[in-house]
Amino acid sequence: MRRLRRVKIIATLGPASVEKTVVAGLSTAGADVFRINMSHTDHAGLAAYVRMIREIEAETGRAIGILVDLQGPKLRIGAFADGPVHLRKGDHFLLDADPTPGDATRVQLPHPEILQALKVGDAILIDDGKVRLHVVETSDVMARAVVDIGGRVSNRKGVSLPDTDIPITSMTPKDRADLDAALIEGVDWVAISFVQRAEDVLEVKRVVGSRALVMAKIEKPQAIARLDEIIEHADALMVARGDLGVEVPLEKVPSLQKRITRAARRLGKPVVVATQMLESMILAPLPTRAEVSDVATAVYEGADAVMLSAESAAGQYPIEAVATMSRIAEEVETDGVYRSILNAQRNAPPNPTAADAIAVAARDVAETLDSMAICAWTASGATALRIARERPRPPILALTPNRDTARRLALVWGVHALETQDARDVEDMVDRACVNSLREGFASPGDRVIIVAGMPFGSPGATNMVRLALVGEEGGV
Ligand code: PGA
Ligand code: MN
Repeated sequence: MRRLRRVKIIATLGPASVEKTVVAGLSTAGADVFRINMSHTDHAGLAAYVRMIREIEAETGRAIGILVDLQGPKLRIGAFADGPVHLRKGDHFLLDADPTPGDATRVQLPHPEILQALKVGDAILIDDGKVRLHVVETSDVMARAVVDIGGRVSNRKGVSLPDTDIPITSMTPKDRADLDAALIEGVDWVAISFVQRAEDVLEVKRVVGSRALVMAKIEKPQAIARLDEIIEHADALMVARGDLGVEVPLEKVPSLQKRITRAARRLGKPVVVATQMLESMILAPLPTRAEVSDVATAVYEGADAVMLSAESAAGQYPIEAVATMSRIAEEVETDGVYRSILNAQRNAPPNPTAADAIAVAARDVAETLDSMAICAWTASGATALRIARERPRPPILALTPNRDTARRLALVWGVHALETQDARDVEDMVDRACVNSLREGFASPGDRVIIVAGMPFGSPGATNMVRLALVGEEGGV
């Protein structure tokens, strides 16, 4: 049961998709990975989603990825004594450590270390940037600010500090508890919110170990400034345009999306483009022209995956949103311009290994001979990732004895992953690559496939072989 597109679709689960029939519908319509957002899900909800997804996986026979998204250090102001206040341009407003309910002149910011870190001139954005202030005076226990853009501010609204290097890690005590719960559930990917530095990624990786892969959400200017060190340590990136668009001027988001996508692709790390992709489909069965164009742009850029947030989690048309995204992607991928863009972006792997060279060779051979598939025997998934980095024309059939690897690869461009016993010998390896190419709908008898593997079998990192094979009548050679 293959998909017809290379780019993957991530659907966020939520109130609109708590029923198993809806989740199954999202899967059938094209969702390859499900995101469980811990900002809105408790541990019982997490367990229920995971159980449901694993049942659907068993029923469809296709590996499904589960991505758990940790809330991260979302800063919030305290409460007000008499309901919302209205700040006007030019007003002075104090953020302090005093838990007494606030008024039109002050409110608590219940993070003392952040009050200390604020500097004169730093911007303070409240409620996704709807209200904007800048700091004019600081002490260890308060920051006085002047209002630049006024508006209504109510209890516990979110605060963004784009100019301030926040001296806290991106894993809060809540995140730590959520992470432990997610690892017990055996999720495949963990996303970290508001990453500022490589250490934030390393901290999560130390807890996760080899139990899951870790995705760094790029949504702060501090992360953009340290993109290279973050990519080096993260297993994947997300262009988290929601918060990124609050923390940097909106008009900078498109170029940052391109920069982040290219940087990740250069290193062969999966990259996800996220947020407001089909936003109007929360309430309407059809997207806007601009949204269709936005999804298409991410696909043309060669992103590994495009993501739905509220569209599938809280909207009225979750399944239609996935189906729409899938149709847009399929259309882009049949456009000749898509191929020419991917080809134009090709670059040599940095610090190439023998395995990288094999991946490049597999793509060249497959394209020269117009092969129907590249079959990769892969234990850890690294071989499949290397081949995906080359964005080859034929699809990649990843054959792995490791169920976790198959699920993790659900996020990766062009990869159709299949859990299967390790090959006994070269003959078996060739034979079963052909059989599975036929069975999964990639090739017909007489078609040529390319096979990539490492000898001796089962030793990760030993990718050293490219083989050509003709698919026989029953699949085998
Ligand atoms: P969120 O992350 O939906 O968890 O906020 C994505 C984003 O900020 O774009
Ligand atoms: Mn975010």
